[in-house]
Amino acid sequence: MATASEVLSSFDVEVIRRDFPILERKVNGYPLVYLDNAATSQTPQQVIDVIVDYYSRYNANIHRGVHALSQEATDAYEHARQTIQEHFNAANPYEIIFTSGTTHGINLVASGFASLIQQDDEIIVSALEHHSNIVPWQMLCEKTGAALKVIPMTQSGELDMQAFEKLVNQKTKLVFVNHVSNALGTVNPIEEIIEKTHAVGGAVLIDGAQAAPHIKADVQALDVDFYVVSAHKMCGPTGVGVLYGKEEWLQKLPPYQGGGEMIDQVTFEKTTYAGLPHKFEAGTPNICGGIAFGAALDYLNTIGFEVIATYEEELLTYATQKLLTIDGLRIYGESKHKTAVISFNVGGIHPYDIGTILDKLGIAVRTGHHCAQPIMDFFCIPGTVRASFAFYNTKGEIDALVKAVQKAVQMLS
Ligand SMILES: *Cc1c(COP(=O)(O)O)cnc(C)c1O
Repeated sequence: MATASEVLSSFDVEVIRRDFPILERKVNGYPLVYLDNAATSQTPQQVIDVIVDYYSRYNANIHRGVHALSQEATDAYEHARQTIQEHFNAANPYEIIFTSGTTHGINLVASGFASLIQQDDEIIVSALEHHSNIVPWQMLCEKTGAALKVIPMTQSGELDMQAFEKLVNQKTKLVFVNHVSNALGTVNPIEEIIEKTHAVGGAVLIDGAQAAPHIKADVQALDVDFYVVSAHKMCGPTGVGVLYGKEEWLQKLPPYQGGGEMIDQVTFEKTTYAGLPHKFEAGTPNICGGIAFGAALDYLNTIGFEVIATYEEELLTYATQKLLTIDGLRIYGESKHKTAVISFNVGGIHPYDIGTILDKLGIAVRTGHHCAQPIMDFFCIPGTVRASFAFYNTKGEIDALVKAVQKAVQMLS
């Protein structure tokens, strides 16, 4: 295996940073230090150019036009679908469904399962979920009479896999877990979860929103049934994402929304649905967003996911060591397998107060429960300060963060 310095031999973060115009900004008179990448990532010029080009040259509705612009837009959109298919190694382009993002993808699957689930069936979710993503499963269970089971977490912020083994059984129809927790950065053992769920005949939906910027998932190697992501966490625009679904599952699920694009024939007596992927793509999609998502994946793959992961691991190690030198600082989420996310508190200081002072110094972090209230309840805290890193961050920025946290602690205690 190549060493970290071999992997990073041609990586120059200062060159990469020039691709991101926003990183030249000042905030409150200080150079922007953007450490909120788990909420959304920044957009490189290469992707911005693709967006400008679309609206400047070939903005048109797709799939139904005979004119040149419509054809160009359709080609670019379908090319992006292929880029995404190759990136995640899906077997077929029509297994890639464009959505408005992760939330949409999860709701599409949850709503579709309503027709496949019966009373006394069981659905398993993990305690490490984004809480907005727990709601669709609660709704599904209310509608069907199925039971919702939760994989508990441990003090280190990992899933309790022994408990999972006891939960999964012949009644398990669907397991929903995030690949990486947005609140703590824990990388979950999805391979094991997929294998054990398949052994009892259940399906697995993985929320890859937080993993996708750091880990290139191979959906065929994972043998996962559904995998959802958002473009805006991986250098693409907001309002677009994809649902990968295995063909057999996408055939079984009913359409999510009715509208244009998703039908084959319509009469008032009966409508027949279009084939995949159009069955799930009602209405005019975010055409420019889809094309830009493809461009964002091209951008990330040019840097390379091994390089990205190796560099971010260095940032994580460096930031963890430096932050732990601060008296009273506690990090939540201590799994050995985590992405570059650090959730922390200092003594009894409210995270919001630290975040406000950091903002005054130009440092963008997130404070609060990170849409993961159950995790905060588990640790009996109102929330954390969360610094999340991307490949365009630097050790210099981490030094600025540490200095600013020290200053905040002095001011607040
Ligand atoms: C960001 C995030 C989501 C929500 O993504 P949207 O783009 O807002 O739909 C869901 N799950 C995880 C783990 C996330 O990090």
